[in-house]
Amino acid sequence: MAKPCILDFTKSELTQMVKPSFRAKQIWGWVYHQYTTTFEEMANLPKAMREELENTYTIMPLKIARKECSSDGTIKYLFELGDGKTVETVWLKMKDESIDDEGNVENEARYTVCVSTQVGCKVGCSFCLTAKGGFTRDLSAGEIVAQVLAVKADNGLAASKRLNIVYMGMGEPLDNLENLAKAITIFKDEDGLSISGKRQTVSTSGLSSKIDKLGEMDLGVHIAISLHAVDDELRTELIPMNKAYNIASIIDAVKRFPIDTRKRVMFEYLVIKNKNDDLVSAKKLVKLLHGIKAKVNLIFFNPYEGSEYERPTRADMVKFRDYLDAHGVLCTIRDSKGLDISAACGQLKEKDLKEGAQ
Ligand code: SAH
Ligand code: SF4
Repeated sequence: MAKPCILDFTKSELTQMVKPSFRAKQIWGWVYHQYTTTFEEMANLPKAMREELENTYTIMPLKIARKECSSDGTIKYLFELGDGKTVETVWLKMKDESIDDEGNVENEARYTVCVSTQVGCKVGCSFCLTAKGGFTRDLSAGEIVAQVLAVKADNGLAASKRLNIVYMGMGEPLDNLENLAKAITIFKDEDGLSISGKRQTVSTSGLSSKIDKLGEMDLGVHIAISLHAVDDELRTELIPMNKAYNIASIIDAVKRFPIDTRKRVMFEYLVIKNKNDDLVSAKKLVKLLHGIKAKVNLIFFNPYEGSEYERPTRADMVKFRDYLDAHGVLCTIRDSKGLDISAACGQLKEKDLKEGAQ
C-alpha cells in the first residue's frame, strides 16, 4: 500500500499522529518553512523518529515534469503526480503598482499561485481545453497544498513571503469540496504557509448548492464566479451545467455568501468574439449585478488549436469595460499573463501530450 503523504494532514491531525505532539510543529516547520523533502534532513528530530517517519510517510507527492517561463515573469508548471497523471500550476508575479481589493496601493512584488484541484474536469465547458480530456480524478488535499509549496521552493522564495492563491487551474474546485476545504485550512495555518482566507480565492463555474456549503464552512475565502454570459441560453451553451444551476440560482447563492465587508465578489466574464462582447450584454450585466458588491474581470478568450470560438478585439473589450465603468460597476480587463507561453487552463498539458506522442 502507498505510504500516506504528510501534506495531506492538518497540523491538529499530525499532532494526534506524532508523539510527543510538539514534534508535529517541528516537522511542519521543516516542510513548510525549509522546503525539506526528506525526513532524514530534519536535524532536530531524534534519529529513530526520522527513520520511522521515513518508513511511514512521504512528503512531496509531485515533481516538475515541465516548466515554461514567460517574458513577463509568469511561470507555468506541469506537475507529475504519484500515479503519473499531470496537472498545471501557474506562478504569477505582479511587479507594478497595483491597487488591492481594499483600495490600498501596493508597490511590492506580489505573487499569486494558480492551482489545480482535479485532473480534468466534469463540468465540460465548451470553451475550455481542460474539459476536452474529460474527468480523471480529484486531487487530494496534499496534492493541492504541494503545488504551492513546490513553486515557492522552486523560486527560492523566503518562507515569510506572502502570496495569494487562486483556485483557477484545472478542475472545478467545488466539485472537490472536501479536499479543497482541507487544503484551505492547511494553507491558513500560521505555523505553515500562513496564507489567510482573504488571500485565497475559489473560482467556480457556479455550483450554487456548493457555494452555499463553502459559505457555511466559514473559511473566510473569497469567491470568483465564472459567469461568462448574461442569459441562460448562451450560458448553457458555454457551461452545460447551467441547466441545473442557472444564473438566478448563482446570483442568489452569491447574495447569501459571507463576504468580508471590505471585499467584493469577483465575476469572471470570458469575452468571446461575436458571442458576448456587445453592449447589450454589458447592459444586462450591469442589471444582473445590481445590489451586489461586485468586481468584474474581463478575460480575453484564449484560442487553441481546434477551438470553436475567437478572441475578441481589444477595442470591443475597452468599449465593454467603459460601459461597465460608466454605470458604476468596478471592472478590469485581465490581460492574459504569459501569453507567449501556453497561458490558458489546460494548454501546457495539451502541448506535453502532443509532443510526447511525436
Ligand atoms: N473550474 C473553475 C476554475 C478553473 S477554470 C471555473 O471554471 O471557474 C479557471 C478560469 O479559466 C475560468 O474562469 C475559465 O473560464 C477560464 N478559461 C478556461 N478556458 C479558457 C480559455 N480558453 N481562454 C481564457 N480563459 C479560459
Ligand atoms: Fe471545468 Fe472550469 Fe474548464 Fe469549465 S472552465 S471545464 S469548470 S475547469
